[in-house]
Amino acid sequence: MKVYEFFKGTKAFINFSENAQRGLIPHAAIVYCRDEFSLRAILKLFACAVLCEMPKKPCLGCRTCDRVLKEVHPDCLIFPKKGGRISVEDTGRIIGEVSFRPCEGDRKVFLLMNGESMLPSAQNKLLKTLEEPQEPAYIFIGTSNMESLLPTVRSRCALVEVELFPPEKIFAFLQDYCPAGNNKVAASSCGGLVGKAIEMAMSFEYLEVYNHIYGMLDNLKTSDDVLDYCRLFASYKDKQEVLDIMQLYFRDILMAKRKGRLRQDKQAGLERAASSRTERQLIRYIEMAGEAKRKLQLNCSAEAVLEDILSEIASEEE
Ligand SMILES: [Zn+2]
Repeated sequence: MKVYEFFKGTKAFINFSENAQRGLIPHAAIVYCRDEFSLRAILKLFACAVLCEMPKKPCLGCRTCDRVLKEVHPDCLIFPKKGGRISVEDTGRIIGEVSFRPCEGDRKVFLLMNGESMLPSAQNKLLKTLEEPQEPAYIFIGTSNMESLLPTVRSRCALVEVELFPPEKIFAFLQDYCPAGNNKVAASSCGGLVGKAIEMAMSFEYLEVYNHIYGMLDNLKTSDDVLDYCRLFASYKDKQEVLDIMQLYFRDILMAKRKGRLRQDKQAGLERAASSRTERQLIRYIEMAGEAKRKLQLNCSAEAVLEDILSEIASEEE
């Protein structure tokens, strides 16, 4: 249960449980978090705070909390059960279930794990229930994308936003969760997202790509290298990730230059790389990688985008 102890420390959860102690739990809420792993854990903690019968809620130790966390409590209904989207049939079932009495206590919780998967037709069907929510039902819609929810749904729900985590907190979490992972690299590369950090920490492929790209950028000296590098970069499945790592590389050099906090694993090489570039150049490279990511999202050709950015960097290095 250490995962849940970690998420109990978030501001979002502390606020929610303080309100729960005072009897101020919203009947309909949207819980927004960019990280799906965190979102699932937090939603279950919210359900514990509503259903736990101990004086200090949620205790995370009672039989109620235990079954909510294991996703088997009869009064904590989770949609969709595993993966997939929340369908019109699902929302129909929620509407029907809201009017039934709880099986055990006097409350019932509905957790919609990936609200962004609901088509407008499914969302529309829920509107009336969200507008007139009543005892004993509590509906929490988790989403990693606010834009995917209709304004009419958003206006009927309270909003809870889950904050991102700083690298040192994620590192401590990973050391406990997967002690043998690439935890240092993952904690500083995950952008504050716990789920992404776990994926990176457990993936040797990620570490390989990361080391490879750092090595190549260290050696990118002339425009003759560009075509070879483009071919290599283009062979990676996740081009967005390649650009993320590129941004990290230049950010690390910038930090080394400013003598800020350094990443232990790459320190010596970075200091060398820092001495040959100006701060202005580095900031521009970071911005260029950001711009390249936006182009990829607009479906520009990944090869062309990579060639542009590498050519520009190489021409300044020459
Ligand atoms: Zn409990």
